[in-house]
Amino acid sequence: MPYSFECTDRMARMPQSGIREIFDAAQDYDDLADLSIGEPDFATPEPIAAAVADAVGAGASGYTQTAGRSDLRAAIAEKLADANGIHADPETEVIVTPGAMGALFAATQVVADAGDEVLLPEPYWSNYHGHVANTGADLVTVPTAAADDFVPDPEAIARRITDDTAGVILNTPNNPTGAVVPPSTLRAIGEVLEAHDLWAILDETYEDLVYNGAVHHSLASDDAFFERSITVHTFSKSYAMTGWRIGYATGPADVIEQMRVLQEHTVSCAAEPAQVAAVAALDHPEVASAIHEAFARRRELILDRLADIPDVDPGAPQGAFYVFADVSALTDDTTEFTKHLLSDGVAAVPGSVFGAAGEGFVRFSYANDETVIRTAMDRFERAVETR
Ligand code: PLP
Repeated sequence: MPYSFECTDRMARMPQSGIREIFDAAQDYDDLADLSIGEPDFATPEPIAAAVADAVGAGASGYTQTAGRSDLRAAIAEKLADANGIHADPETEVIVTPGAMGALFAATQVVADAGDEVLLPEPYWSNYHGHVANTGADLVTVPTAAADDFVPDPEAIARRITDDTAGVILNTPNNPTGAVVPPSTLRAIGEVLEAHDLWAILDETYEDLVYNGAVHHSLASDDAFFERSITVHTFSKSYAMTGWRIGYATGPADVIEQMRVLQEHTVSCAAEPAQVAAVAALDHPEVASAIHEAFARRRELILDRLADIPDVDPGAPQGAFYVFADVSALTDDTTEFTKHLLSDGVAAVPGSVFGAAGEGFVRFSYANDETVIRTAMDRFERAVETR
């Protein structure tokens, strides 16, 4: 029999990220000011790297409990109480995962079933689509608008609820829009979910990266809401630790237990050296503060530059490290627009890869050195002015 491979139905449902098209096209250029990647450019801070070197030397390189080392879970519970107002039992209500990605994937598998619907404000970070697709549930998007600073409308969410709705995924601060959902709006969304007995998966990956007086609020700080939510955090962005693959989730014990079972059958546990690094990170909050300050300066820089470029509206992103700029006055096809930008020496991501509501926008990441941001803006300005 000749070999032939047939993709499973489950995998066929999983979308390829649209970002790939731009990454592939970018391979043809060797002098790019690359503002496409959502990854801090800092090396792992020294106190964290040093703690890991010592601990691995002393043998911290084995399997751990599936839910994570108990010293890390205890430190996480303390951080959740101090920083998020969330009161979680480290033994039963916290799980350490390989990045926020591991937590979000597991959370989605535990909350949604085939035939369910999962609500998601749009534009959205593309990976949720894959997570939901793998459960067999359908993704139901709820468009948000630049005129509302991309903050989701609780009533619009309510209107999309059907008998099949399992819950909602909320991401604040948001990738790609930089939106920070105000506490009052979050509470209003929480009331809608409570009224319909629905779950929330709360992706707070960028919790530390808010600027200009914006406030990040954790909905699960309300004990009643904690019971129907899974909140996800990570060390990737706040501590420049993307490659360590270390994050965590908190929620009610029965849900965390199901996530633990899934993790047991997939990755066993997060890597122990990364867990040690996470304990060290929580011991060094000054590291996260320095990173936040650097991002705040870069945000000012890129917003100032974009404000001077004709026909480009950078909006008012309050969080994460993205600007979702309105370029609809310049193009009606942002994928083509960003491909042209590559030949001008700038890499950015077309808004359409984050869902239809992103068409007309381009995402710039300012998780980059200031000289790269300046070069990108010089080139972008020239490209727009010479069109
Ligand atoms: N959630 C959002 C919104 C993200 O932008 C990212 C990474 O870009 C993640 C989750 C995944 O983060 P981690 O590196 O912790 O898996």
